[in-house]
Amino acid sequence: MTANLKAPIYTNEIKAREHLEALRWPDGAYCPRCGGFDVKKLGGKAADLGQYNCRDCRKKFTVTVGTVFERSHIPLTTWLMGFQLMASSKKGMSAHQMHRMLGITYKSAWFMAHRIREAMKPAAGSLEPMGGAGKVVEADETYHGKTSEIRTKSVDGRVKYQNKGRGPANKRAIIALVERGGSARTFHVAHATFSKVEEIVSQNIDRESRLHTDESRLYSVSKVPTMVAEHESVKHSADEYVRGDVYSNSVEGYFSIFKRGMKGIYQHCSEKHLHRYLAEYDFRFSNRIALGVDDTDRANEALKGITGKRLTYRRTSEAML
Ligand SMILES: [Zn+2]
Repeated sequence: MTANLKAPIYTNEIKAREHLEALRWPDGAYCPRCGGFDVKKLGGKAADLGQYNCRDCRKKFTVTVGTVFERSHIPLTTWLMGFQLMASSKKGMSAHQMHRMLGITYKSAWFMAHRIREAMKPAAGSLEPMGGAGKVVEADETYHGKTSEIRTKSVDGRVKYQNKGRGPANKRAIIALVERGGSARTFHVAHATFSKVEEIVSQNIDRESRLHTDESRLYSVSKVPTMVAEHESVKHSADEYVRGDVYSNSVEGYFSIFKRGMKGIYQHCSEKHLHRYLAEYDFRFSNRIALGVDDTDRANEALKGITGKRLTYRRTSEAML
């Protein structure tokens, strides 16, 4: 279902808060400080602010305590719209467009977008190995954007990017794993080396899986084939793209969306933020409509990722929200 931006959760602060409460507390409200369930919703004016009282630690709390919304000056309705826009735009949405559509400053939109990406990132240690017996995981690598860019400002204040060198050694390497008919996981690495690829495969793919790649030596000459049940490859250089059920089209499809988005929407992303953009594309791909996840489900799934993930930006940045 496509979201209706006139829905109450996007126009009414109380409805927006109740929506968050339902997502964060499916089994009823609990105290985010001590974890106690013995809580009471306050009445009167405090009810409109979503305040609860914890009988265990005797402190008041709301659903936003411990989330990216806690110290934000942006209304929850605007935050929810931001989540909806980012979650439903297949190739992403620029901070410029969020700024225009949501009526917030560009800087606020930029920080909001990064916080949404953070919410989309899987919680540390929450990921299960990909694949499994009889399942196929595809792996591939790509090079996107220049590394070691120098950011300068010209006299009229325009930001310019200068590259120090040419060739693949100066490009940012990304390794992607896609479970066929399932989720995606990507990694920005300094260099795509045997040891790096071995590390990623051993930490993320179930050993019972079948692994499909192109003919890259990263997979065939390294120890990777010993880490999975079976490794097979297609030889793109010989125009072989599919051999039986052996192919790497799923992971190439992922890269195609990522590259079109990075080129058309985000244009310039500094290398230190690349992993955040990858988390955003991984999230949408892993929660795509072909897997039965619609725009609304996807936005809600991202909203569930808000807890316990504060970005460590400087306080001045926090104040902008
Ligand atoms: Zn408590």
